[in-house]
Amino acid sequence: GDEPPSPTIHELDDRTVRQIAAGEVVERPASVVKELLENSLDADASRISVAVDTGGTEGVRVRDDGVGMDREAVQRAVEEHTTSKIADIDDLEAGVGTLGFRGEALHTIGAVSRLTIRTKPRGGDTGTELRVEGGEVTAVEPAGCPEGTVVAVEDLFYNTPARRKFLKTTATEFDHVNTVVTHYALANPDVAISLEHDDREVFATEGRGSLRSAVLSVYGREVAESMIAVDHEPDAGPIGRIEGLVSHPETTRSTREYLSTFVNDRYVTAGALREAVLDAYGGQLATDRYPFAVLFVEVPADAVDVNVHPRKMEVRFDDEPGVREAVTEAVRSALLEEGLIRSTAPRG
Ligand code: ADP
Ligand code: MG
Repeated sequence: GDEPPSPTIHELDDRTVRQIAAGEVVERPASVVKELLENSLDADASRISVAVDTGGTEGVRVRDDGVGMDREAVQRAVEEHTTSKIADIDDLEAGVGTLGFRGEALHTIGAVSRLTIRTKPRGGDTGTELRVEGGEVTAVEPAGCPEGTVVAVEDLFYNTPARRKFLKTTATEFDHVNTVVTHYALANPDVAISLEHDDREVFATEGRGSLRSAVLSVYGREVAESMIAVDHEPDAGPIGRIEGLVSHPETTRSTREYLSTFVNDRYVTAGALREAVLDAYGGQLATDRYPFAVLFVEVPADAVDVNVHPRKMEVRFDDEPGVREAVTEAVRSALLEEGLIRSTAPRG
């Protein structure tokens, strides 16, 4: 017959497969920062400094005082699918206590940038410097360096010009970096986390463990002083505990981005949680003004699906109305106690 020819199906070459996969892990400088910060936190660091140049498009440097790696470990770390965090699927099913476990970040970052790692294990006496360029290891040599790890990523996407072209302005890329580092700094007040942009300090937390002092470092005195403590354990329902800080109804901004919510200590973007916080303020917020919030919600692991998208930080709750109600109630009772809302104030 004269049917149209069927399209030819061919196998993608390795380089193409790798570049496509890389695009899903590393979208922009902020995703590099997120992966490196998570690695430093997983490495038990108590101080982490993040420094970026030109919004991160020219360079990202993350330094930590964590466990470090010996020469053999750092060479393994940049290979494909290598991790020290799980051994097999059973470990994953049993639940992982680390932020990472996929074993793909360092490998992927090395494939799309010029990557340098200097690292020395705690208590070890030799450091190692390893360099990767566009996926090829170009040097592994002894290096004098302090205990811990410094990862430097330069010229992100230099070898994938089409991707590089999609990077936005310095200001936009830096905004994304700042948002990521801010969320980790708020979620880990016991770790001193600092951020520098083009050699200027943006913020530095003290790492003494208090959420209020982390908020002071990140958002400044006016915001920190207006924050009201929330600490609520519902008698029933899907939530175990809700705690954190929310701002006075007059300390607001014009976007919702300062409503930060964490589920089981992970930052999540959950519209339902933000709405629940706003509902608590009733009519006390001016039109188009949004408060600050840093709220930690504890939910039993089986009542929430955090893997809706591994990198998009979305969550899905089994009982979303129950979660919303509990969060609104927690924030409402904190505001009521301070006399900042009236008990019957409707929203609107
Ligand atoms: P994952 O974090 O999923 O294990 P990565 O590619 O991010 O995968 O890292 C690979 C491995 O390299 C980690 O499992 C860890 O053993 C090691 N590693 C990475 N970053 C650090 C760091 N900052 N300090 C110590 N070890 C690290
Ligand atoms: Mg990792």
